Amino acid sequence: MKKKVEEIRNILLEHHEWFQKSIPLIASENITSPAVDEACASDFSHRYAEGWSGQRVYAGCKYIDQIEDICMELTKEYFRCIHADVRPISGVVANLAMYNAFTSDNNGKMCCMSIVRGGHISHGPRFAKSGREIFGTAGTTRGLNIEYLAFNNDEMNLDIDASAKIIREFKPELVLFGGSVFLFPHPVKELGDVAKEVGAYVGYDGAHVAGLIGSGYFQDPLREGADAMTFSTHKTLPGPQHGALVSNREDLIETLRSCAFPALLSNHHLHNVAGLAIALAEMLEFGKEYHKNVIENAKALGQALYERGINVLMEHKGFTESHQIVVDISNFEKTIGLGGAIEALLESTNIILNRNLLPRDLAEGRHYQDPGGLRLGTSEVTRLGMGKSEMVDIAEFIKKILIDKADPKKVKQEVIEFKKNFQEIKYCFQTPNKAYEYLKFY
Ligand SMILES: *Cc1c(COP(=O)(O)O)cnc(C)c1O
Repeated sequence: MKKKVEEIRNILLEHHEWFQKSIPLIASENITSPAVDEACASDFSHRYAEGWSGQRVYAGCKYIDQIEDICMELTKEYFRCIHADVRPISGVVANLAMYNAFTSDNNGKMCCMSIVRGGHISHGPRFAKSGREIFGTAGTTRGLNIEYLAFNNDEMNLDIDASAKIIREFKPELVLFGGSVFLFPHPVKELGDVAKEVGAYVGYDGAHVAGLIGSGYFQDPLREGADAMTFSTHKTLPGPQHGALVSNREDLIETLRSCAFPALLSNHHLHNVAGLAIALAEMLEFGKEYHKNVIENAKALGQALYERGINVLMEHKGFTESHQIVVDISNFEKTIGLGGAIEALLESTNIILNRNLLPRDLAEGRHYQDPGGLRLGTSEVTRLGMGKSEMVDIAEFIKKILIDKADPKKVKQEVIEFKKNFQEIKYCFQTPNKAYEYLKFY
């Protein structure tokens, strides 16, 4: 088995080397600083601490409590709120805690965005056709009755008037904003008022945009009427994989807490709480500048691709207000193929990004495995120090492959050469470590 251990380690090393030589554009990913990586590799990674800090049902939590307290304080500071639960082990688990808190046990009712329009799998059943669907959430006995909010494909945002009508008729217990394809702020204020009219809670899934929100961009859901916001800690927020829930509702704190533990958690991955605390400190120091550049780079990448004949959505709105852009690649169907083929072709040249369903894909007979779109994000390339001129370089690589039909092997060499200049992680307290360096203990 020693050979197995060596084999596994070598594969990990190869993965690190591959990312060193690649352009990472997956919108739900980011890169963590060496300080975060070190915390995640600490002894915390195999300890237990059930319950709330200071009230554990495990011994040995003295230092774990100190760090979790710091993590909660930094979360509250970053998101300007009075309650932060940093125990949910992922964004999905934070969502489940919110559903537990805000909907009733049997046939609870929720309105949210459908998955094909950019909602997340944790917002509903897999690829719901339309209308009402039942969603049985893992870890609870709850089945949520879901009615989708109306979406305007041309604006890539919720349709306020049509959604208001749906909320008034369906009378949900929870109206959930936020999604995975998330170019523009959602009308939380406008539709939140309608939600309150029918007695519904307002939730906001900030998994993708949490870093933008914390740093003061995009929108500010807790001040626009959201009763709680959930998020993943590893997308625009460059922390380790984890989740969290924040709120400014003093009267809901106890409910929100008890709906996370013991309902959905036992151990809550303490190493990641430590890593998250460090990532939050980094963002409180560098986030204003970092996330401003993330958004500017997304707009610049959209513009540069568009100018090169690639069909980036939402040109009339400046492409995006977030870290993401969405590209319609259906015009390449005859020459290269759809999302699946294009993703694979780009990956072979070390450009790593994701295929993505477009709002009209299902209606046009396309499937999530091979959709008509791509989603690109600029969180990671920005953290490596890239700026607007590099967005033009990236657009040029993509054009060479998709439009000029350049030899992928040649483009891959150019990508590797280009990437050599971006081997440091910015917007963190500097250490001697390089980006994607494998932390070696022996
Ligand atoms: C990524 C994502 C999540 C949760 O993801 P985890 O992997 O569980 O952290 C939840 N909601 C949305 C909208 C997302 O994009």
